[in-house]
Amino acid sequence: MVLILLGAPGSGKGTQAAMISQKLALPVISTGDILRAAIRDKTDIGVKAKSFVDEGKLVPDEIVAEALRQRLEGGDCAGGYILDGFPRTIPQAELLEELGISPQTALSIEVPDSDIEHRMGGRRVCACGAVFHLTHKPPKAEGVCDICSCTLIQRADDKPETVRERLRIYHEQSEPLKGFYERLGRLKCVVGSGSVEETNRRVMDALA
Ligand code: AMP
Repeated sequence: MVLILLGAPGSGKGTQAAMISQKLALPVISTGDILRAAIRDKTDIGVKAKSFVDEGKLVPDEIVAEALRQRLEGGDCAGGYILDGFPRTIPQAELLEELGISPQTALSIEVPDSDIEHRMGGRRVCACGAVFHLTHKPPKAEGVCDICSCTLIQRADDKPETVRERLRIYHEQSEPLKGFYERLGRLKCVVGSGSVEETNRRVMDALA
């Protein structure tokens, strides 16, 4: 089973992907995570992708496709997987079909832009991987990680002007994917506002 998660940046795709992964025992393949790791490790792909990711722009299709191809070679993908953040453009969706990867379902998580700006603007992260939110999940001491006591930072692509740019790009380049998968009869949409648990109930119902 191959499941695609669609939705704007900050719509909660990553969180839902992790929850679906646990319930259905499928690995999550997040191109955003793959690219961030490549940038951190300064691999060829990371060096090419860095400026695009930092500016909230889409990384060129051929670079992301290569990162994905390398990841899919991992033995854990044989029984299916959840794609989080790929495809993000119609050419990327066409590439999947050309590779013979036909997702059974493309699940779109729908959240208004204003909610997303609030969610992402308040996110703070730590180098250890912990994620906090100024309103929804504040750290015990302001600006300090609860787990390792390091200073929390705002991801470059979570800055307000970058979030607005990412949303603009989402509507222009990624939202048309809904029509692409609707025409193939594989699109399902769920409301992604409200709590993580409420959204997950809707997600699991949609996948049942
Ligand atoms: P994400 O964590 O999914 O929001 O991705 C973070 C960033 O990685 C995006 O803003 C893009 O710069 C880049 N990225 C991730 N997936 C893709 C993709 N499928 N196509 C192009 N760029 C991507």
